[in-house]
Amino acid sequence: MDLYTPDEFYIKDYRFVPYLTRDEIAERVTAMGQQLSTRFEDKTPIFVGILNGAFMFMSDLIREVKVPLEIDFWKLSSYGDEKVSTGDVSEIKAIDANIADRHLILVEDIVDTGLSMQYMRRQLQSHAPASVTTITLLHKKEATRYEVKLDYVGFEIENRFVIGYGLDFAQQGRNLPHIYIRDENQ
Ligand code: 5GP
Repeated sequence: MDLYTPDEFYIKDYRFVPYLTRDEIAERVTAMGQQLSTRFEDKTPIFVGILNGAFMFMSDLIREVKVPLEIDFWKLSSYGDEKVSTGDVSEIKAIDANIADRHLILVEDIVDTGLSMQYMRRQLQSHAPASVTTITLLHKKEATRYEVKLDYVGFEIENRFVIGYGLDFAQQGRNLPHIYIRDENQ
């Protein structure tokens, strides 16, 4: 297969280099899918993908979960084209499903400060789901300053900006199969 995997990638003069390969990601996604399959057998969970960044992870993850399930998507405000969180979160697209008494699995691409995850958990409380489980492909532990409970983490990564595999910078880079990291020595 001929993949789009350049050795370097430029967006707005920022240089990005490969960080986690497609194979490394696939291996973790398979392992996490197996764990979820065991845990949610007979529960028909609803996987809620957080748009836009988690769409690729969500799509690969649910194919590794071998129990009946439903999916939905939730979209919160993004940082726009900035790389730094402003501290505000608002809702752009709500969850469509009736989530009362259902087992929810929130699927995030990356947890940075933890603000979005904290906001989402709080929002869900009033809808009385049976349970809320959180899964994120990436976690920047050093950057996390809001208290969040992450049940499944694909990779703990350093506190640097990453793109690829669904994650963007200024809306670009989402189609890269590997995850790339900003080269701070350029
Ligand atoms: P938090 O609310 O935890 O600070 O940030 C979560 C959101 O910020 C993620 O869903 C993602 O959209 C964005 N984000 C945080 N760090 C990065 C990063 O390194 N790369 C990209 N592309 N987005 C990030």
